[in-house]
Amino acid sequence: MSEKTRILVGDKLAQAGIDYLQSFSDVEVAVKTGLSEDELAAVVGDYHGLIVRSGVQVTAKVLENPGKLRAVARAGVGVDNIDLAAATTKGVLVMNSADASTITTAEHAFAMLMALARNIGPAYKVMSEGGWDRSKYVGTQLSGKTLGVVGFGRIGRTVAERALAFGMTVVAYDPVFNAESALDGRVKIFKDFDAMLGDLDFISFHVPLNDQTRGMLNAETFAKCKAGIRVVNAARGGVVDVPDLLAAIDAGQCGGAAIDVYESEPPAEDDALRANPKVLCTPHLGASTSEAQQAVSTDACAQLLEYLKGEGVRGAVNLGGVRLDLDPAQQPFVELAERMAHLLSPMCDGGLGNVTVTLEGELLASAGSTIERMVVINLLQTQLDDPVNVVNVRLIAEERGIKSQTTIIDEPRVSPRIKIEVESGDATRFIVGTVYNDGLPRVLNVCGYHMDMVPEGQMLLLQNEDKPGMVGIVGGELADANTNIADMTLARHGDKAIMVLKIDAAPDESLVNRLKARPGILKVATVNLPKIENGG
Ligand code: NAD
Repeated sequence: MSEKTRILVGDKLAQAGIDYLQSFSDVEVAVKTGLSEDELAAVVGDYHGLIVRSGVQVTAKVLENPGKLRAVARAGVGVDNIDLAAATTKGVLVMNSADASTITTAEHAFAMLMALARNIGPAYKVMSEGGWDRSKYVGTQLSGKTLGVVGFGRIGRTVAERALAFGMTVVAYDPVFNAESALDGRVKIFKDFDAMLGDLDFISFHVPLNDQTRGMLNAETFAKCKAGIRVVNAARGGVVDVPDLLAAIDAGQCGGAAIDVYESEPPAEDDALRANPKVLCTPHLGASTSEAQQAVSTDACAQLLEYLKGEGVRGAVNLGGVRLDLDPAQQPFVELAERMAHLLSPMCDGGLGNVTVTLEGELLASAGSTIERMVVINLLQTQLDDPVNVVNVRLIAEERGIKSQTTIIDEPRVSPRIKIEVESGDATRFIVGTVYNDGLPRVLNVCGYHMDMVPEGQMLLLQNEDKPGMVGIVGGELADANTNIADMTLARHGDKAIMVLKIDAAPDESLVNRLKARPGILKVATVNLPKIENGG
């Protein structure tokens, strides 16, 4: 019976997610909340997946001995509580479930924008204290006003759609949005933040916090805005400079602000934002609806299981651009590349150096970075004990000074081809392969030796002097070791030859040593590749 997929839930999670996990008979779920760093570190390696919210700290110490752990799923967006560098080094995939809270957060930002426009906060406060003041709280209509959306990602776009429905003019600033306009031309996209500011009645932030976005709205940029601009920040504390915001409110340059997020949460009891009547504060409520809580929980659980069961990757935070959702026609070529790299690795007796992958055929053009990554994984894995995978391979290769590159010959080809070249000492070793119409991978050339060989099963690779009697010597040694030969490929090049033997059982070390000791045999390597289902 195959091992169950073991999932540890480390933070309080909406029951819907746990129910979802428990609906699979091959999944075992343990809920252990409130574990200390040491307690979590001691148990985490017994599980294939860990699900957290923002409470549990997944530190380098927790990930030091990852054991079985392959992925950490954050039910929610921010991954500040997960040490991404440590996870990447250990080959642990980190994923978040950002989509699930997009609408909820956009609705909150829009609710804040409306509340600002109509002074809902201060008016409520006066009413609740027994007062009645109508003239003090005359508002402003949204229709006809201009909203600037900063960050046109999931939430920014959703806010923009709602603002358009209210008759607002919407413009946006997002340096990573490569178009003049969006939403059927109804939103003009600015490439220069400052250039957008002069037209705005409202500005709403939907960007991550980083060096470019920290303090984006400050004294200098406030000065470029129309007097009376109203500000919404439901993104991250720190994007709007708080002292400069308060100064702009005092000076009348800012007409009010609605703030959901703070640099330090919760902000101090006497934080100036709380006391300012022109500031509407909410305690980081953006994603807090029951629908979103349930959705992040079930999304995180579903994403984690999909990854652990090899069904795909969604919401990956530390995968660095690798596509695992390949076109079905590309998939056999990825497997071919993996097998080829595995075969080539033992030929690289001068060590592994820079790697060049050449992909011929338009079918493979969009799979370049994925194939390259799989090739480097398989080259490295045969040489290293620690697991190498899509998450940590780039880092491991960099640490070893191995550079990889892909050349794509983007032309139609009946049988697309892959060539892998590896610098090894003073030499360059290479292998060429394809997948024919029968769907089976074929190796066509190994280091200049032409062949047509399906790479699978237990294989013995030998390089020998091209002289009579060599096949007999090898056959005799295998017979003496009671090892059956299932298939054999011979190829000649100059005064040397190569033999690729498929054998029924893994050769033991003494057989390999005896072969290596025979005169005329130059190299011996063993490779074990998975059998091909329905093939070979
Ligand atoms: P997203 O990644 O879909 O969108 C972010 C956008 O910001 C991207 O399009 C990106 O190109 C853009 N961007 C990056 N740097 C920029 C810059 N210097 N200037 C302008 N734009 C820039 O993210 P999202 O899901 O839309 O989330 C947006 C923000 O909302 C995130 O910071 C997230 O943490 C926050 N958030 C807050 C809550 C809450 O509870 N208040 C809930 C969910 C998300």
